[in-house]
Amino acid sequence: MNRDGLSRTRTYAAGVLALLAFTTACGDNGGGGSAAPAASTAGSAAPQPSGGGGTPTAAATTPGAAPAQGDAAAWAKWNLKPLAPAPAPPADKPIKLERTGTVPVFSDVKTTDKVVFITIDDGAEKDPKFVEMLTDLKVPISMFLTKDIVKNDYGYFKPLQALGNHIQNHTVTHPVMSKIPAEKQKSEICEDQSTLTQQYGTAPLLFRPPFGDGANTPTLNNSVQQCGPRAIVLWRESMQIHDMQYQAGDKKLKSGDIILAHFRGPKELKGATMTQMFADLLARIQEQGFSVARLEDYIQAPPS
Ligand SMILES: [Zn+2]
Repeated sequence: MNRDGLSRTRTYAAGVLALLAFTTACGDNGGGGSAAPAASTAGSAAPQPSGGGGTPTAAATTPGAAPAQGDAAAWAKWNLKPLAPAPAPPADKPIKLERTGTVPVFSDVKTTDKVVFITIDDGAEKDPKFVEMLTDLKVPISMFLTKDIVKNDYGYFKPLQALGNHIQNHTVTHPVMSKIPAEKQKSEICEDQSTLTQQYGTAPLLFRPPFGDGANTPTLNNSVQQCGPRAIVLWRESMQIHDMQYQAGDKKLKSGDIILAHFRGPKELKGATMTQMFADLLARIQEQGFSVARLEDYIQAPPS
């Protein structure tokens, strides 16, 4: 894999994407479910890590309110049954992030709310129909974006962000993090952090390693700490083309599960479109009786 940060080409990106398509991408079971304990270093008045900065921009949501949901006609337009509306976000957040120290690693959120969370990675497919779909349905998502995969059109993600969706860190070149040295890990995360902050006006709070690789290693944890994100987020289910791969043996969604999906189009989805994939994802969630909530509504950012 080309690790030269200066000479990547579209060919390389295409190769990465082809690889992703055949390896179920950010890797299904690459994660691990256990959450590392958060370090109890609160109170040490260390400065904010560099690489962050940036003030939150206008999110379209009202704090404390459940994400809005599209009306029945909107769901019918996409041949979908409406999801149950998500409950109001918890006032006491199940996940509380610290400003400094070890960052927690999690693949689900402890909650009794019958909700799951959708995360969408990489950013390769930039289908205008998907923007239309989310504008209609108002299903919350979190986007983990890879600089080299989105840099040909940062603007595509802005209307999705304007719906209240957050943009999070997913490296510059999508490497296997455990195979690169600490300094390179740091540049991968810090450069994505500064670019996304500049492009989208707000610093990512969360990081996802490509393939989930290295998530529980001290080296990667330390690299993340140096760049600004305050948690490492994995997943419990991975959306494929029409169905999900489940880590749980019973192949059922559980309250608080984080679902991984990708910005993918017909080339990666055997002819299916991004909106067809997403409609199938929503149908799988709807038939199991879950709502979709906004992941960031269940996470308390560090005190500023
Ligand atoms: Zn990825």
